[in-house]
Amino acid sequence: MKKTALIVILALIPVLAIAGTGRAKYVFFFIGDGMGFNHVSLAEYYSGHTEGLHGSLPLSFSAFPVLGWAVTHSASNLITDSAAAGTALSTGTKTNNGMLATAPDSTTSLKSISYKIHEAGYRVGISSTVGLNHATPAAFYGSSISRNDYYGIAAQIPACGFEFLAGGGLIDSRGSDGNCTSAYDIIENSGYTIAEGLDDFAGKKNSTDRIMLLQENGRERTELPFAIDRSATDMTQADLVRASIDFLYSEDGPGFLIMSEGGKIDWASHSNDTKAAILETISLSDAVAVAVAFYEQHPDETLIVVTADHETGGLTLGLEDGYNLYFDKIDSIDCSRDKASEDGKDMMKELSREARIGWTTSDHSAANVPVFAIGAGSSLFSGRMDNTEIPERICKAMNIIF
Ligand SMILES: [Zn+2]
Repeated sequence: MKKTALIVILALIPVLAIAGTGRAKYVFFFIGDGMGFNHVSLAEYYSGHTEGLHGSLPLSFSAFPVLGWAVTHSASNLITDSAAAGTALSTGTKTNNGMLATAPDSTTSLKSISYKIHEAGYRVGISSTVGLNHATPAAFYGSSISRNDYYGIAAQIPACGFEFLAGGGLIDSRGSDGNCTSAYDIIENSGYTIAEGLDDFAGKKNSTDRIMLLQENGRERTELPFAIDRSATDMTQADLVRASIDFLYSEDGPGFLIMSEGGKIDWASHSNDTKAAILETISLSDAVAVAVAFYEQHPDETLIVVTADHETGGLTLGLEDGYNLYFDKIDSIDCSRDKASEDGKDMMKELSREARIGWTTSDHSAANVPVFAIGAGSSLFSGRMDNTEIPERICKAMNIIF
């Protein structure tokens, strides 16, 4: 073969690899808040432990064929917060910690890809296990110089017009002083239907084109329970993803973007709560499994991307000394630290130490985060990337101008 012909073929390989899987019509974008590589490793080893194995079992997404890693620093800090990281993942621009879809100049609003994708005719669904006006989901519809302006952020929901919103409710739904008009009323009056619980959702979903799904008594609550504290009737992130597909997919429909956040991996990790962090990561895996089942029905047109906004806790597998982990030490832990007594908290910390699981901070770390992908356009997500490149690559996979 002539050298020039070989060069042409080599140059075409990435193009063919993307073209070969077609345009992504159905996109799932999962964000495990605070989920570093070691959170994934830990959940894998724990899954192996529960199956009686010496070793680890893959999560629904950790054996995806494409693996990349993303750099997470913000414009202001080497260790990002969720607002700046959410902004990077949503708009493709770095901003300062604490700022939401607003440039570091404090005045320029940044546009989320969810708007670009919606304007291109796709349906959009946003869900989270924490409050819908918490930083990560909010970065996909809202904009504010402060992530803490919860009421002001919630009040931006009507204008987004996205078809499906689901999660743990709204923080400060009556304003930080409790004296404002209910944000739920503002959202309902703008044309959204609010459903509380899956039965209510089933009854209302066919008579509205925009819905906000909360858990039962969801207007009074701001987060889904930790997986470890969950009762049989509590909604899960997998339920949110199932409901979003149910609402957004139709056989002759335009396609969709579904962004779904597992928000409490971060919360468990801030508390250095080992068992809760493991079960939250597995809960995200269960939610991704719902998307994988959809992908298997629509393999040529579906893209699934799973990443994190940052790592939380400086989690390490192996502590002090020795060459083993002892998961049987944490088998007896049956609630989150939030629910434990003071003595229980001390005991949980000691059991985690005996299991040789280490935490080096109660804040975030600067560790790079994994990017897992499968399906149409997934080859775009291999290798090292900046977190700002992820939304750009999603648009590219969908053939939408970024
Ligand atoms: Zn955090």
